[in-house]
Amino acid sequence: MSKAAANDICRILNTFNVPNMPKDFRGVMSHVKKSNPTLLHGNQSFICPSCFGKNANASKCNTNGCQSASSYVRSPTSVFTFPILPQIISILERENLAPLTYESDQCQDVINSQRHHEIVMKEKQIHSGSNIVTLTLNSDGVLIKRLSRSLWITCACINELPRCKRFEINNMLICSISTGDGKPKKQEYSTILIDIVNELKILENIGFDIVLLSDKKDNARKYTHFHAFTICAACDKPAQSLLMNIKDPTGYFSCGWCCIKG
Ligand SMILES: [Zn+2]
Ligand SMILES: [Zn+2]
Repeated sequence: MSKAAANDICRILNTFNVPNMPKDFRGVMSHVKKSNPTLLHGNQSFICPSCFGKNANASKCNTNGCQSASSYVRSPTSVFTFPILPQIISILERENLAPLTYESDQCQDVINSQRHHEIVMKEKQIHSGSNIVTLTLNSDGVLIKRLSRSLWITCACINELPRCKRFEINNMLICSISTGDGKPKKQEYSTILIDIVNELKILENIGFDIVLLSDKKDNARKYTHFHAFTICAACDKPAQSLLMNIKDPTGYFSCGWCCIKG
């Protein structure tokens, strides 16, 4: 729905004096944000270009003795990180999961791969009765020439969604969005990754509860416990070197798999 359409609907409903109706699109958005603070709001921070520490301050580093303590020596990379859990819950509560089929010599998808099957079997032993989802990470960036700013986005998809739904924009998990003068440096990116990795660990080890779509028919709220495992990442070579903290693709020994000098 476009902004203009939302404005028109607000106007129509207001002529009928519908109570608590926002005046326009902006009113609707502020209402949505108020009731879903974690879903839409990322936490903004700045990464110090000298010590690569994370700061809430946009103009100087808070670390004592840092070269950028009075003001950043160059403009810092700015990062928004978004909590992943509320995003996973909202997706899984409205989408049906694809059925799992595993045959030892066939693999058409991540969810019928051997690795996936191993995790399912292991989880059955440790947490019987709880379900799993697996995530594929992706990280990539673009350079916006007109603004000479680089935009770097880390996101993930839920492999258990049917393929036709999996990559829809509203089924994507946004982990972080960062902007800077150029592609983030490895040290900057590892600062960004700390928060993401910590949350992914919690999702894997502790898990979360969801009311599945198929359980919503009966009114009793039946929760299913899930654990989320991050099992793969789809990246190009420069993104892989950032994500895995290995040599840049033009350097010697830059392969993520083998030890050939190259
Ligand atoms: Zn610093
Ligand atoms: Zn190799």
